[in-house]
Amino acid sequence: MNEVLFTPWRLAYLTTGAGLPETGGCLFCSLPSQGDAEALIVHRAPLCYVVLNRFPYSNGHLMVTPYAHRSGLAGMTADERREMFDLGAVAEKVLVEAYSPHGMNMGLNLGKSAGAGVVGHVHLHVVPRWDGDTNFMSVTAGTRTVPEDLVMTCARLSPLFAAHAPAPAVR
Ligand SMILES: [Zn+2]
Repeated sequence: MNEVLFTPWRLAYLTTGAGLPETGGCLFCSLPSQGDAEALIVHRAPLCYVVLNRFPYSNGHLMVTPYAHRSGLAGMTADERREMFDLGAVAEKVLVEAYSPHGMNMGLNLGKSAGAGVVGHVHLHVVPRWDGDTNFMSVTAGTRTVPEDLVMTCARLSPLFAAHAPAPAVR
């Protein structure tokens, strides 16, 4: 059962963003310096941002990650952790509103052995799922379908994040 449950996270290596400029070798450190449309960033909060997976497991596959290079939850500040999971909750709300998925996978992969694609920079995957949607085998075979263009997805989700994300807390 675990095999099925955790299978999507083995796909995280697909997030390594082919064709994107790399700064210091870390994708998540370099993405925020690009424009939102170029980087597929749907929301920028004070400590974390939300970005579309360029090689999504399913339509609307989002990742929430801190700007700071943190290897895991233990290395994050409490404020960063809070904001990452608060944004995970907003992502859940936004995806329900935009796509009415039947379910969602949310998870973290820490380290290559755990399936992390961008090793060393923690990110929370939020993957909407539908009954009978793309399975692992078809994904690895390269036949997965992404029905909605990523830029369109970005344009569709950004205003929903703006509407649902809490105003930055005064610290
Ligand atoms: Zn980084």
